[in-house]
Amino acid sequence: MASVGRTYVRAIDIRSFNYSLRRFSANFTDSGRVTLLGICEALRYDIWHKALSSMGDADSDNDSITSLQEYELDEGIPQVEDPFIQKFMAGRTQLIEQEKKQRHDRLFKANMTPLAKQAAKILSSIRKRELKEIWSGTTEADLYPGMAFSHARDRAERTDVYKCLARMPKGALLHAHMDAMVDMEWLVDQTLAEKGMCIVAPQGQIDVQKRIGVNGIKVLDQIQFKFVPEAILAKNAHKSMNIWKADRTNYTAGTPIPVREAQRTFPDDTTTFKKWLVSRCRIDPDEVCRGHEGVDAIWRKFQSTFMTVEQMLFYEPVFRRGMQKMLAELVDDGISYVDFRLAFLWEWHPTGSSKSLKGLEGHTKFFEVWSEEIEKFKKTEKGKSFKGCRMIWTIIRVFDNRMIAESMKECIAIKKKYPHLICGFDCVGQEDGGRTLQDLTPLLFWFRKKCAEAGVEIPFFFHAGECLGDGDSTDQNLFDAILLGTRRIGHGYSLYKHPLLIDMVKEKKILVESCPISNEVLRLNSTILGHSMPALLSRGVPVSLNNDDPYILGHSKNGLTTDFYQSFMGFENLGLEGLGTMAENSLKWAAIEDQKNAEWLKGISEGYMGKSTKAQMLKAWRTEFEKWCQWVVMKYPLEAGVENELEDEEDEEDEDDEDDEDDDEE
Ligand SMILES: [Zn+2]
Repeated sequence: MASVGRTYVRAIDIRSFNYSLRRFSANFTDSGRVTLLGICEALRYDIWHKALSSMGDADSDNDSITSLQEYELDEGIPQVEDPFIQKFMAGRTQLIEQEKKQRHDRLFKANMTPLAKQAAKILSSIRKRELKEIWSGTTEADLYPGMAFSHARDRAERTDVYKCLARMPKGALLHAHMDAMVDMEWLVDQTLAEKGMCIVAPQGQIDVQKRIGVNGIKVLDQIQFKFVPEAILAKNAHKSMNIWKADRTNYTAGTPIPVREAQRTFPDDTTTFKKWLVSRCRIDPDEVCRGHEGVDAIWRKFQSTFMTVEQMLFYEPVFRRGMQKMLAELVDDGISYVDFRLAFLWEWHPTGSSKSLKGLEGHTKFFEVWSEEIEKFKKTEKGKSFKGCRMIWTIIRVFDNRMIAESMKECIAIKKKYPHLICGFDCVGQEDGGRTLQDLTPLLFWFRKKCAEAGVEIPFFFHAGECLGDGDSTDQNLFDAILLGTRRIGHGYSLYKHPLLIDMVKEKKILVESCPISNEVLRLNSTILGHSMPALLSRGVPVSLNNDDPYILGHSKNGLTTDFYQSFMGFENLGLEGLGTMAENSLKWAAIEDQKNAEWLKGISEGYMGKSTKAQMLKAWRTEFEKWCQWVVMKYPLEAGVENELEDEEDEEDEDDEDDEDDDEE
C-alpha cells in the first residue's frame, strides 16, 4: 500500500497533488485533518503528510488554479513540472546540445572571450526585441523575420541589428563580380557627366516594349556607350537624328548620340532617361516579385544588365573613380580584402579616345589601371587598413571551345605580367544554361597543362550547384568541381542534397561561398528562410557569406551587411558565433597569395597559429572584432542590463520554484 502510494505521488506534480488533496479533504474538520495526518505518519506517506501540514499555506494558491488546469488535472493530463515530463525535457535539451557540437561554429564558440559572449548576448536580445517590434505581423500585415530581401531592405536598414552589423569587421569578400559592384545610379550620373559620352543603338528606340521590355524582363535591344571626341562629334550627322525614333531618316543604326542629347529628347512621360537607364543595369523589386516566371526569366534580365554596365564602367576615367568609390564602400562595411571575379569580354575605353582596346590589349590595360588604383586607394586614410584585392579570372561557360581556350591563354599571359593580381580561375553564367563542368573538363585539363608549361599557379574556384535540380547535369557540377580540385565552391546551393560530397568538402577543406540574397533574387528560394545554408552549417561545412552581385541584385550599398543581417534575423541557430565563424573563414580561405596545394591546406589548418599573411590577417581581424564587441556592449548597456535583469529574474523565479519543490519534498 505504502509503495503504491509513493509511486503514485512521485508520478504526479506536487502542485496537482496538493490540489487533489485539497479537494479530497475539503469536507474535513480541523480535527479530522489531524487524524488524517496521524494516519499518514503511521503509514510513512511522507509527501501526503507534508502536503496536509501545509494545507493552510496552500489555500492562497487555490485561487491560481484555473478552470483549464482543473480540467487537465481531472483528466490526468501531466503538467510541465511533473518529474517525468521534466526528465523528458532534460533529454531533449541534451539532444539539441549534442547536435550543436556538429555545427560549423563549435570552435569559435568555445574560444569566445567574455566580451564577445556579452556582445553575442546583446545582439541576440536586440534581435528578439526587433522580431517583436519590427518584424511581427502585429505591427503591420505580412511582416516576418527573414522576409523577402527586396521587401525587407529599407526597413532592415533602419534597425539596431543592422546598424550593429554594418560596423562589424567581416573579414574578406570572396565571391563578388566586379561589374555588379558599382552603384548604378552613380554610374549613370558619371556617364551623363562625361563630356563626349555617346549612346549607340542597333535601331531607333521608339518601341516602348523594346525599350523597357514587357513586364520589365524581356530581352531588350543591346545599347552601347562610347566616347567620341568633340571635334568628331561636331562633324557628326547626329544633330539631325533622334535615337528614340524608328524611322531611318530619324536614326541611323550605330550612330553615336551624346547621352545628354538622348536624355533631353527622351520621350516617356512615365519615367526619366536616368531611371530608364538605371533599370537596365539592375533587377528592380517588381521584377523580383514575379517569381512564377521562374529562374530562366530572371537570369535573362540579370545577364543583360552586365552588358549595359560594362559599356559605362570600362571607360577609364569612370572606372578609376568607380574603383576608389567601390573600395571605400567595402572598407566602410568592414571588409579588409577582396577576391574579385570578372568575365573578360568587354572592350577597354582609354581616356579621351574613341578607339576601344579589344582582347589581351584591352585587358592588359585594365590590369595596369586597376593596379594603380588599388595602390592609390591603399595610400588614402580609409585604405590604410585595406589588405588588397586580387582577381579570379572567369570565362563565360556557354562559349565555344575556341573562345574559352583563347580566354584561358589571355589569363595565363596576364598572370605572367601581373602575378600579384590573378589568383584563380572560374566559369560563370547560368549553370542550368550549360556548359557543365563535365563538358568543359578536357579544356580545364588543357588549361592546367598550359599553366604548368608557363610556370604559373592558377587554382580553380568554381561556381557549382547554383541550381534547384537534384541529380541533373547542373547539380552534378558539384562532383566535377570537387574532382577537379576546386579550393572553394561558389554558391554550393545544391550541396545539401549530397551527404557524400558534404563529407568530401569537409575532408578536403573546401569552403562554400554562400550568397543567400543572390540566390533569393535569382529565384532559388523565395525568402532566406528557404535557403539551404543552414543544412551545411549544421553539418560543420565551412561557409563564408557573400554578396555576389550587390548593385545589380538591388542592394542599396556595397558590402556584406545585408547578407549578414538577413541570415542573422532569419536563422535562430546562427547568432554572433555563426557570423564570427563565417568572417573568420573568409580570411582562412582568401586567395591573398599564391600557394601550392599543400601550403594552402596548411594555412587553413594553422589559422591564427601560422606565420603566413593569412595568420596576420586573422589576428588583425580578431583585434578589430573584439573592439567591435566592446562597442556593442558600450552602445547598448541598457539592452545588456535588460537582458541580464530578465535572466536574473528568470533565474530567481526558477530558484523559487526549485525552493518550493525542495520544501515540498523535504
Ligand atoms: Zn557568382
